[in-house]
Amino acid sequence: AGGRYPADAPASEALFDRARAIVPGGVNSPVRAFRAVGGTPRFMVRGEGPWLFDADGRRYADLVCSWGPLIHGHAHPEVVAAVQQAAALGTSFGTPTPGEVELAAEIVGRTPVEQVRLVNSGTEATMSAIRLARGVTGRSKIVKFAGCYHGHADGLLAAAGSGVATFGLPDSPGVTKAAASETIVLPYNDVAAVEAVFAADGAEIAAVITEAAAGNMGVVAPRDGFNQALARITHAHGALLIVDEVMTGFRVAPGGWLGLDPADADLVTYGKVMGGGLPAAAFGGRAEVMAHLAPAGPVYQAGTLSGNPLACAAGLASLRLADAALYRRLDETAATIQGLVTDALSKAGVPHRVATAGNMFSFFFTDADVRDYDGARTQDVAAFKAFFHAMLAGGVYLPPSAYESWFVSAAIDDAALEQIAAALPAAAEEAAAA
Ligand code: PMP
Repeated sequence: AGGRYPADAPASEALFDRARAIVPGGVNSPVRAFRAVGGTPRFMVRGEGPWLFDADGRRYADLVCSWGPLIHGHAHPEVVAAVQQAAALGTSFGTPTPGEVELAAEIVGRTPVEQVRLVNSGTEATMSAIRLARGVTGRSKIVKFAGCYHGHADGLLAAAGSGVATFGLPDSPGVTKAAASETIVLPYNDVAAVEAVFAADGAEIAAVITEAAAGNMGVVAPRDGFNQALARITHAHGALLIVDEVMTGFRVAPGGWLGLDPADADLVTYGKVMGGGLPAAAFGGRAEVMAHLAPAGPVYQAGTLSGNPLACAAGLASLRLADAALYRRLDETAATIQGLVTDALSKAGVPHRVATAGNMFSFFFTDADVRDYDGARTQDVAAFKAFFHAMLAGGVYLPPSAYESWFVSAAIDDAALEQIAAALPAAAEEAAAA
């Protein structure tokens, strides 16, 4: 086990100073800046299996896994080899390639979707799925749920989770009133609210978009039958259901959340795991719906680097390694870590709730049952902050926000578990004292 690291991190501090002068806030994605927890973000220089290594040469057991993609841990030899082989053949052609057909086939083989279009980020996937839903239905409004995050497209930033929740932002400046007025925001897990809005406005609603299981307000699983009720209500009113599996897809099960809890989605979005740590994402659905997309149909969508050969190679290698045994291991590892954290927090008398959705989980520092975003906001953020920093000092890298899921990889071994177990008692004490 790594012992305790000092609170300061000179090499990361120097890099952060340099970055802040030339990059807004010093980071290329807001949550990375540690604003919610304070202190200096650690600049990582290397990853290997379950470990991240920072610029000060410290080693952390990684429970973020690049925010979900790395189910095999860092620098898995087969994923690295696949990327190296692809790179040697050229990095981008701007033409169709065999690799993208293979990746599409792997996705279609594992999931309910019949056709997929590859894109570069989850944001693009959800943005494009919404355009397609509007194009297909000829309607303009969309329904989303408070605390769900679907990327940063204008219409989806209303009451969004993830970094927007972390920073307590209302809605982002720069999103026009026109864009915001097309989005109806409802409480997560509230079927009656969905029924009511469709009864009032149903003929104008193109789609409901929901996270397959919410992971961007901390983890909040759908109540039994919630996703199925969304399918029933949307279809009764001629609207589409878009299930966002960017986080859950190929992480919680071979076919994603819909493999565990089938619901009749019209469009499904994927990202993260399917790119193996390189930028790749996708949206898909029934062939008849996808046929509306250019060049087969009139709804336009495109990308210079879409289906990039390196990203497809990394994604394919990752998915091909993701067999039933891999998912059993992820589930077992998640359960082991939940047990360790629960024991430590209970011993220290820290109020907490462990929330799970398959092998995704997070801890809410609250006594309340968390079913939606209002519930998630009852947590004691100061306790999380103290806990986070003590874990970091103990060599464990947690998401630097109380509104994010924790992610495990199959590379987490006994040494990593020991490092986590060793860090926990002091972290639980810090959370109790906060
Ligand atoms: N949808 C969900 C459910 C997500 O969790 C995320 C990112 N965390 C996105 C969409 C956006 O993906 P990206 O960051 O790749 O744009």
